[in-house]
Amino acid sequence: KGALENGAEGCGLFRTEFLYMNRPDLPSEEEQFEAYKSVVAGMDGKPVVIRTLDIGGDKQLPYLPLPREENPFLGVRAVRLCFARPQIFRTQLRAALRASVYGQLWLMFPMVGSLEDVRRAKGFVEQARRQLARRGERAGEVKLGAMIEVPSAALMAPELAREVDFASIGTNDLCQYLTAADRMNPAMAPYYQSWHPALFRLIGMAAQAFEQAGRPLCVCGELGGDALAAAALVGLGYRKLSMPPVHMGYVKQVICTGRCTDMQKLARSLLERQTQSEAEALLNRYYELAVQ
Ligand code: PEP
Ligand code: MG
Repeated sequence: KGALENGAEGCGLFRTEFLYMNRPDLPSEEEQFEAYKSVVAGMDGKPVVIRTLDIGGDKQLPYLPLPREENPFLGVRAVRLCFARPQIFRTQLRAALRASVYGQLWLMFPMVGSLEDVRRAKGFVEQARRQLARRGERAGEVKLGAMIEVPSAALMAPELAREVDFASIGTNDLCQYLTAADRMNPAMAPYYQSWHPALFRLIGMAAQAFEQAGRPLCVCGELGGDALAAAALVGLGYRKLSMPPVHMGYVKQVICTGRCTDMQKLARSLLERQTQSEAEALLNRYYELAVQ
């Protein structure tokens, strides 16, 4: 509701793990179906990107004990957990496929690192579809997409773009894995550089690959709602930015008052910066002039 009131053209990221948290057991297919249906039906036919379960790493479920890992962010997380617990994954996929009858539902897989991951996840969707068909239940058309938040997936963007209907850059994790700086550790803040030129170069390459393939690519991490970076993202080729509703006004202000050619110039210049502080200074200069 907040998104629509602020002029959103869809929901770029529905983090479904919140349905699984703060409760004693797994949510049933029916509960999930109702939750997805209410969001999809409530968005006036605009697309809703539902991200499949992203548990592990920083998010744990008390009723789903996972083996202790030395590096949980590099371990059994997100789709990797779903592959290891196929019943949980298929239940969620059936709920989403049923809800897709009520609007435009796009389904997105987090933490894919390879084409095999994407193909395997798509195989699960087909299985869930067959299960629903056997039960005589309706399932709608869904677009299938991947989050690009592992550097290996970003570097495979040209191939990935042929394998999925859409993708979305998860800049929170992409930055963490690219800079090797734990996003949860305050002591790592100086190393977790979300305006690192390397991050802009990587997501710039991904934008080119998806543009060539004619497939939509969104930014759905924190950077997507960062008013300082918004013009540069447009300049790099991004046409879909996902953000909390409260950021929409600031981001629209900077994008809608600027010219695309200036944003492209900004993006080209940004890709030539050598350090985060140089990048930040450039973004700041553009922003100050844009919102004057
Ligand atoms: C991301 O990693 O950028 C993202 C959007 O997902 P999350 O913050 O939930 O890991
Ligand atoms: Mg993430």
